[in-house]
Amino acid sequence: MTSDVNEGRRPVPTILQGQKALVTGANSGIGKATAIGLGRAGADVVVNYVFGKEAAEEVVEEIKSFGVRAYAHEADVSQEDQVVPMVARMVEEFGTIDIMVANAGLQRDAAITEMSVAQWQKVLDVNLTGQFLCAREAAKEFLRRGVVPEVSRSAGKIICMSSVHQIIPWTGHVNYAASKGGVLMLMQTMAQELAPKGIRVNAVAPGAIRTPINRSAWDTPEAEADLLRLVPYRRVGDPEDIANAVTVLASDLMDYVVGTTLFVDGGMTLFPGFATGG
Ligand code: NAP
Repeated sequence: MTSDVNEGRRPVPTILQGQKALVTGANSGIGKATAIGLGRAGADVVVNYVFGKEAAEEVVEEIKSFGVRAYAHEADVSQEDQVVPMVARMVEEFGTIDIMVANAGLQRDAAITEMSVAQWQKVLDVNLTGQFLCAREAAKEFLRRGVVPEVSRSAGKIICMSSVHQIIPWTGHVNYAASKGGVLMLMQTMAQELAPKGIRVNAVAPGAIRTPINRSAWDTPEAEADLLRLVPYRRVGDPEDIANAVTVLASDLMDYVVGTTLFVDGGMTLFPGFATGG
């Protein structure tokens, strides 16, 4: 299937035509690129955000330019009383949901001895509880609706935005690393529980991607050179690298992929320190 939205250029594959996607934290960075990527691939998209309304509306306009539907929805993913109505509105406006990308996330960094309970709790609330709530609400709708063969072979897809820090410990970021370690088990357990119902749950684990969350790691040549020591492929990733992975993973091209983490990290998880040592 192809569309001619890029008339005169290479056709854009619309591998998600007719599907409805919700991306959390979609007004910035990885979530923004993912929402745009899913729209380009033919999906109608809900653009969730919590603070940046104007940026979210810009993303909506870009998605609509592909000829699909989109709207922005403000909700704090860590709050049950905001997530439940967010998904309910989507079912009302779009009829259903086929793809949930639980992407919203943040960092509140501190040494373990300096970390407050507030810093710990905020990161766990958004990065882990937020993913649980969004996945739960999507799964309920997937189960209610079941498989619609003309739309997708599966009853629904949940994609958890994890991180290489689901397996790599990270000094000074114990809350973040614990949240992503939690996302791994959340994802795998949901995958085990929901696969018999035809629902595919997977994760994408980015390495170092150029977004506002980690600006200090790449915004000077020295910082970037230091970062690239950790990346065998020797480039910092772009949000589109993650968007492409999510788009294909959400499509029926990946219909037999269940309970897997797709690392999109330029080889960061290859333990590059051992290339010369060990
Ligand atoms: P980002 O540019 O800072 O974007 C974070 C997004 O999350 C923003 O849209 C933000 O919305 C949203 N958000 C924060 N708290 C929220 C809440 N309570 N409810 C709803 N939305 C909320 O960061 P990013 O790099 O794109 O990160 C996206 C995901 O990728 C995160 O889960 C992060 O852990 C993961 N990741 C990133 C990297 C990387 O190198 N960049 C690597 C591994 C994993 P507002 O702007 O409205 O606050």
